Amino acid sequence: MSESIPPQAEPTPAGRPFGELPLSPALLATLEQLEYRTMTPIQAASLPLTLAGHDLIAQAKTGSGKTAAFALTLLTNLNPRRFAVQAMVLCPTRELADQVTQEIRRLARSADNIKILSLCGGTTMRPQRASLEHGAHIVVGTPGRIMDHLDRGSLRLDALNTLVLDEADRMLDMGFFDDIAFVASRCPVRRQTLLFSATYPEGIERLAQQFLRNPQQVKLTGQH
Ligand code: ADP
Ligand code: MG
Repeated sequence: MSESIPPQAEPTPAGRPFGELPLSPALLATLEQLEYRTMTPIQAASLPLTLAGHDLIAQAKTGSGKTAAFALTLLTNLNPRRFAVQAMVLCPTRELADQVTQEIRRLARSADNIKILSLCGGTTMRPQRASLEHGAHIVVGTPGRIMDHLDRGSLRLDALNTLVLDEADRMLDMGFFDDIAFVASRCPVRRQTLLFSATYPEGIERLAQQFLRNPQQVKLTGQH
């Protein structure tokens, strides 16, 4: 799907206020309430690109604020009045999926009734299927369980506009490449795809080539 990956984007300086981004007043107010005063370096480097609609490969170490970078993007892309799954985040483990779900919920709290579901293995399908029947705007989950729901028809992705591969390096380590490929094949071709990773092993390039379109690339190594 993608051509070659362009050279890494120039990170913008850190410590800049969120107010300079094209975010809704409601999201800016929430960030202030959460005391997120300035962008972290990965947020400052990636948000101008993702909010402009680009696909993105972002690499930065654990704890650098990657979750809010993609959460603010998918919330900006979201139409709360359309009750259909518009964003999906794939994570390697249930623990990480739950953390991501919590962070998105925190950032979405000013918006009315945005429903976010966490769909992971280790519990029975039935309650998840019941929740999906009631509808959701955002789903976060592990590739295997998301695949099961797609297989059984309990999850439809035709309204999806944003796909996030979080902790992509770990998902590759855990052997999820084929599951990710299956899930991506069920997503609309016209979408924004964001790939986040703490490290940049060889397989990431392959993931990006296959599932991202003309991605911008931001790599922060060292202190950030
Ligand atoms: P990563 O995914 O890169 O490992 P997280 O997204 O989990 O990092 O963020 C690490 C911590 O930083 C979280 O507790 C989050 O709430 C906090 N955080 C994220 N962005 C900001 C910000 N701009 N200002 C203050 N704290 C932030
Ligand atoms: Mg993370």
